[in-house]
Amino acid sequence: MIPYSRQDIDERDIKAVSRTMRSDWLTQGPETEKFERSLAGYCGAKYAIAVANGTAALHAAYVAAGIKKGDEVITTPLTFSATSNMALAVGAKVIFADIDEKTGNLNPAEVARKITKRTKAIVVVDYGGNPVDLRAFRALAKKHSLVLIEDAAQALGATYRGRKIGSVADMTTFSFHPVKSITTGEGGAILTDRKDYADTLRLFRTHGIRKGNPKHPAWHQEMLLLGFNYRLTDMQAALGSSQLRRLNTFITKRRAAASRYFKLLKGSRLILPPEDSLRSSAWHLFPIRISRGQVKRRDEVFAGMRRRGIGVQVHHVPVHLHPYYRSLGYKKGLCPKAEQFAASEISLPLYPSITEREQRFIVKTLLQLLG
Ligand SMILES: *Cc1c(COP(=O)(O)O)cnc(C)c1O
Repeated sequence: MIPYSRQDIDERDIKAVSRTMRSDWLTQGPETEKFERSLAGYCGAKYAIAVANGTAALHAAYVAAGIKKGDEVITTPLTFSATSNMALAVGAKVIFADIDEKTGNLNPAEVARKITKRTKAIVVVDYGGNPVDLRAFRALAKKHSLVLIEDAAQALGATYRGRKIGSVADMTTFSFHPVKSITTGEGGAILTDRKDYADTLRLFRTHGIRKGNPKHPAWHQEMLLLGFNYRLTDMQAALGSSQLRRLNTFITKRRAAASRYFKLLKGSRLILPPEDSLRSSAWHLFPIRISRGQVKRRDEVFAGMRRRGIGVQVHHVPVHLHPYYRSLGYKKGLCPKAEQFAASEISLPLYPSITEREQRFIVKTLLQLLG
C-alpha cells in the first residue's frame, strides 16, 4: 500500500526523544521552550506557543482573539472540521464563505459579502499547504477591525510573497500530526507578534493559572481565565526541534514530488493545482480534480485506486455538509463552489520519501481508470 502521507523519522529524532526521556523533565519544560524559540525563529514571528495538537491551537487562538457567544466567525467549508468546531466550542456562530475554485482557498470577495456588525474574526485555511491571498485578507480585516487567524495546519514551511507562513496573520496555527509538514506525534502551536495574545495563549494552555507573581509568597497561584491542559510534552518538543531542522529538506522533497506530478499529468483532462504555487506551497496535498464531464466517475476512480493499493483521500468533506452541521441548520447549496470542488477532488499520495516509481504507478493507474 502506498499511503497518502507518512512521517519521516530518522535516528536523530529517536535520539532526541530518548535523551529527553532520561532527563528530569517529561512534560512541558526546557525542550518546549527551545522548540518554541526555534519555531518562532524559523517563521519570523515574535512568539510561538506550543500546545497539545492543532485543534487545541485553534481553540486557544479563538479564546485569545476574544471570540465569544454571539460573535460571528467567517471561515471556509473546505477544511478539516476542527477549524469551525473550535469556533462553535467558544460559542460563536460559524459563517461559511465560498472558495476560489482554482486554489480551493477562501475567496476574499465572498468573505467580504458575509461581514456583519457581529463578525469578530476571519479564519483562513491554506488548503493543501498553498497560502491564501493574505494581502487581501489583511486589508479586509483591517478595514472592518477583525482578527485575522490563519489555520496553517497544512502550510508550515510555505511562503507568501517571500515571507514565511506564521509571520503574516494576527495569529497562525500549526499542527504536528504525522501527516503534516513536521510531526511531534500529536502537537500544535500558535504564532503571533502580539504579547497580549501570547500571554493569554500561555495561560489558556495551563488551566488559566498564573504562578510566580512576585507580590505573593512562592506557593501562590491564581486562576485568571477558564483554561485547559493543552500542554505539549518535552519528549514531543524534542522531536519537534529535531524535525524542524529538516523542515526545509522535507519541503524541497515534497516540491520535487509535486513537480513530477505536474510533468506526469501534463496533457491529461484533469484539473491540477495551481502550478504557480510550486515554490510557495508547503505541498501538504496534491489535490487533483476530475473534469466537469467526468465528475460522476470520481468515486469509481477513487475505489479503483484504493483497490490497487494507492492510498488516495478526499480533502475535505465540506464542513457544512456533515450531519452535525446539518443538524444546526446548514444546508447543501450554501457554498456551491466548495461543494463542487469536493465532489470532484482526489488527493494523490504526497510525502517526502515518495519515489518517482511510485508516482509513475499512481499516475498510470489514475489515467487508466479514467479511460
Ligand atoms: C490537521 C488539521 C487540523 C487539526 O490538527 P490536529 O493536530 O489533528 O488537531 C486543523 N485544521 C486543518 C486545516 C488541518 O489540516
